[in-house]
Amino acid sequence: MSWETAVERAINNNVPRVYKILREHPYILDLAKELREAKLKVLENLEYYVDKTLDSVKRAGGHGYLASSPEEAREIVEKIVGKGKTVVMGKSMVAYEAGIREFLIRQGNEVWETDLGEFLIQLANQPPSHIIAPAIHLTKEEVEKLLKQKIGGVHEGSTHEELVTMVRQFLREKFVKADVGITGANAVASDTGTIALIENEGNIRFSSISPTVHIAITGVDKIVPTLADATKEVLVQSAFAGLYPPTYVNFTSGPSSTADIEMKRISPAHGPKEFHLILLDNGRIKASKDPVLREALLCIRCGRCHLHCPVYRALGVKWGDPPFTGPMGAMWSYVVYNDPKPAMYCAHSGNCKEVCPMRINIPRVLEYIKWKGNRQKA
Ligand code: SF4
Repeated sequence: MSWETAVERAINNNVPRVYKILREHPYILDLAKELREAKLKVLENLEYYVDKTLDSVKRAGGHGYLASSPEEAREIVEKIVGKGKTVVMGKSMVAYEAGIREFLIRQGNEVWETDLGEFLIQLANQPPSHIIAPAIHLTKEEVEKLLKQKIGGVHEGSTHEELVTMVRQFLREKFVKADVGITGANAVASDTGTIALIENEGNIRFSSISPTVHIAITGVDKIVPTLADATKEVLVQSAFAGLYPPTYVNFTSGPSSTADIEMKRISPAHGPKEFHLILLDNGRIKASKDPVLREALLCIRCGRCHLHCPVYRALGVKWGDPPFTGPMGAMWSYVVYNDPKPAMYCAHSGNCKEVCPMRINIPRVLEYIKWKGNRQKA
């Protein structure tokens, strides 16, 4: 079994599904155009929208932070979490970028990824190979072997359903005892301070509701002007990811509360007492001021460009700096790690540009990064 087998199975499962969704729900294409305009509006004035978003989070009863670097993000997380806690993590590429999981473990916390793919690569001690399916490189047979070694209870020839059930049983207790839940955010509404999260597993809902503290960590590029724009992002991202309609859409505006006794607002009710939003810059604000690199920041992480790219099909996880893989990863490796090397592998097939919902001219951005990389070397 190999990368070729795993990626071929993923392509056969996902690519026809996205085309079917777009045929059956053609309004998604109009929403994608509107979303591109809304995101461009933010990127043209990003610092203003960061301030506005942090104010809105505060008005909603939460705590907002701008972290200029992964180190700053870790410091903020450390102050909130402390030591000796149980932490459950919903899927967050930015948490990976900032090294949050390893950091919290080093600080003496018990930390569990709860998205199935992220959980598998945590057990395998491997980097993610795709932005929405991080364990895409593992075949079912390899998953079976891994679970048998690490958590037990799996027999040879287990079905897909049996493997998922084993993980569900293992993680259930972690959700219940967790002190802190850490998630990402698919979009952040600047006018209300609301974060939007899309998922099918239910792990993000558990991670953001069950513990008394919820930390959302995401990039400043996820800011959109309004809650209505965040809703558009939810619909467009899930459709282009092949997961439409999404099973769960979570909107969170501050900590949980109730006013059911004499209309007096008390926090918490059943959800978290604290809500923290950490917005990571790490090169994004600088990129937003460059008219070519700005395009990369429009990415909504649908993962479609990966499956249509011949270079990604050949190289897989070896292409890009984790968690940024594939064509989008070649752009983002430069934005956040200042690494132009992944862009050098682009063969300019142009498939990515044709299928990108944000109409990002990825080959042009990568050509520009190649040029910048060659100038850095000279
Ligand atoms: S670059 Fe476009 S196609 Fe690729 S993940 Fe981002 S939004 Fe999706």
